[in-house]
Amino acid sequence: MPPQSGSTTLETVPSGGRVHVLGAGPVGLLLTAMLQMMEGFSVRLYEKRREYTRTRMVQLASYLVADSVESYSTDSIDGDSVEAVFDPPELDEGLAFRQSIPADLMALLRDWALGFCPLNAIERSLSDLIDARRSNALQRTAAVVTAEDAMAMLEPGDILIDCTGSKSLLRDQLVPGSGEVDGGTNTLNIRLEYALVITFLYGQTYDCNEYCKYYKNIENAHYKFIPMVHRTHYDGSISHVTGIVNISAEEYEAMPSRFDGQWLRRNFRDVAQSMDRFIDKIKQETHGEILGDLEILRIPLNLYRARNATSRQWLAAGPSDHPFASSPVFLAGDSAIGSPYFQSISLGFECAMYLAGLIAHRDLPLRDMFDRYELYIYKQWLRVYMRSKMIKHNKDLFESLDDPLALLDKLHIY
Ligand SMILES: Cc1cc2nc3c(=O)[nH]c(=O)nc-3n(C[C@H](O)[C@H](O)[C@H](O)COP(=O)(O)OP(=O)(O)OC[C@H]3O[C@@H](n4cnc5c(N)ncnc54)[C@H](O)[C@@H]3O)c2cc1C
Repeated sequence: MPPQSGSTTLETVPSGGRVHVLGAGPVGLLLTAMLQMMEGFSVRLYEKRREYTRTRMVQLASYLVADSVESYSTDSIDGDSVEAVFDPPELDEGLAFRQSIPADLMALLRDWALGFCPLNAIERSLSDLIDARRSNALQRTAAVVTAEDAMAMLEPGDILIDCTGSKSLLRDQLVPGSGEVDGGTNTLNIRLEYALVITFLYGQTYDCNEYCKYYKNIENAHYKFIPMVHRTHYDGSISHVTGIVNISAEEYEAMPSRFDGQWLRRNFRDVAQSMDRFIDKIKQETHGEILGDLEILRIPLNLYRARNATSRQWLAAGPSDHPFASSPVFLAGDSAIGSPYFQSISLGFECAMYLAGLIAHRDLPLRDMFDRYELYIYKQWLRVYMRSKMIKHNKDLFESLDDPLALLDKLHIY
């Protein structure tokens, strides 16, 4: 695009100014809670939902509240990847930033890293914390924001952070010319498989371990319910159990996005029978009953990343009248990276911490800010990619455990 008269390209972020955060899911809320306390910034938070209704149980990773490299790398698989991907000074920088997180916010993170809680409890607590601070530096807007709205609201030097989740509003607008192409230009998407996410409540303690996925599926030749291991949650009277069942692309297409056990039994008997066999084995072991019906969600399991997690391409393209040439844009949370097999909230929170640290660094040239954020997101992507591929591979091997030839075919060793 040729330079226009009076057009501008930003080289530095003004010290202080307006930060627009699109999306008040967990990541947008955490970012807001951090930026709100930084001198000189005025934060505008936009959200389309009126209420926080997502009740699924989630847990935050302990690395979020780590205070040493050792405590950061305790996960036996992820810990190795962290050491392979990040240099020690990078890890030290992340840990140092944690020390500057306001105490009220850190207390919440510590609490969530201990056990399970519903996703909407995290969202509500963050939202309440932000409101309770009564800061003049925050303005909240309840609205569906379009890409055009987002561009129109920008004044030169404003920062825009897209936290709108996996169907990111701006991901595919971050490359000049991509708005004219039909979607997906800035997204690398790896479709791992299709699955049903099945959740049920059980009126007894049931602590699922690594053996459950095999022994409770022993008569399930085709559809195996793979429960979340060590992540069943017992609240004193009820166990919340979640797991997934692999389905084909055709089955996925033939199902509504949400349904219950009754619907499954009527329409997909084989899948329902596998599920019921698994549950019968739990009952034999622990003598409890299912409470209510199954809650079932059909989802594609996508591993994806934004090839550009910032508007660096607009900066590189030179002066232009496009708003992204004069206002830096960042993606955070599921907008930037997603994996079905990684603790994505924790990953999004960590990226939000890193971005808040960069924004706090007032004298950093914009190019350096972009480069550092892009490199950080890329390294997080490597970490997520390695773990996700390994889990998918383990899952493929597991599906073939009763068929030695199929198993050997997948066991590439040398
Ligand atoms: C079944 C299931 C189970 C999961 N379990 C776990 C788990 O155990 N642990 C874990 O860490 N993660 C889990 N996840 C993933 C986790 O829920 C997401 O990683 C997390 O919610 C991402 O947070 P986010 O803030 O980036 O995006 P989101 O939570 O998607 O939030 C985006 C926000 O932006 C708003 N928004 C979107 N578009 C607009 C617009 N145009 N205008 C205004 N507002 C807009 C949305 O309303 C929403 O509030 C699970 C996901 C699923 C589907």
